[in-house]
Amino acid sequence: MSAANENAPVLILLGPPGAGKGTQARKLEEKFGLVQLSTGDLLRAAVAAGTDAGKAAKAVMEAGELVSDDIVIAILRDRLADPDCARGVILDGFPRTTVQAEALDALLAENGQKINAAISLEVDDAAMVSRISGRYTCGKCGEGYHDEFKQPAKDGVCDKCGGTDMKRRADDNAETVGSRLVAYHAQTAPLIAYYKGKGSLKTVNAMLGIDEIAGNLNAIVEDAIA
Ligand code: AMP
Repeated sequence: MSAANENAPVLILLGPPGAGKGTQARKLEEKFGLVQLSTGDLLRAAVAAGTDAGKAAKAVMEAGELVSDDIVIAILRDRLADPDCARGVILDGFPRTTVQAEALDALLAENGQKINAAISLEVDDAAMVSRISGRYTCGKCGEGYHDEFKQPAKDGVCDKCGGTDMKRRADDNAETVGSRLVAYHAQTAPLIAYYKGKGSLKTVNAMLGIDEIAGNLNAIVEDAIA
């Protein structure tokens, strides 16, 4: 890791699939000029490009399980070295295991950086299946939509960029969502205690509306990066 500067903020969004990490990370990216790093997006790009990491990850992702720590840490390390990350980053979907959290601490320490806040988006499992199964994104700019909670002004046309190629993720189906929630509780939820122990944990109620959650997150982030 070389690009980051030691004052660049590092924020982590924790929460189960469907909690709104991606939606909120994009808003924070716009508002604070930080870079959203989603290991899910990086892995989907690796799958689409047919890289060795992508080939190894594809079936695991389709089953709703976690890709190996080695692969994910290597992908994240490479991305963090890109020059834009020197502005500061919002990690969305990473770390997801204690091994990843420890690897992140080590990577940041190499640059004299630290985590400004690990923010847990708190939601009820019961709401997650409908949240996930209704969601889709604009294939051109990545803006997220939902059949029930956030429709574009004109059906099938992205409000942001006018794109008409809307995409649904292969793993956003009821069966896979169940496995993803199991993986979250078994492997990722323990990170809440990990960051609490380090004094960097913040929590937000992510059962509220998108804009209300964003307002609460903005206040936390303003404080954390001050
Ligand atoms: P997401 O887009 O964050 O929901 O991630 C989609 C899928 O990519 C997950 O269900 C995992 O299979 C894989 N994935 C993403 N991030 C990680 C990570 N940090 N560790 C392990 N697997 C991951």
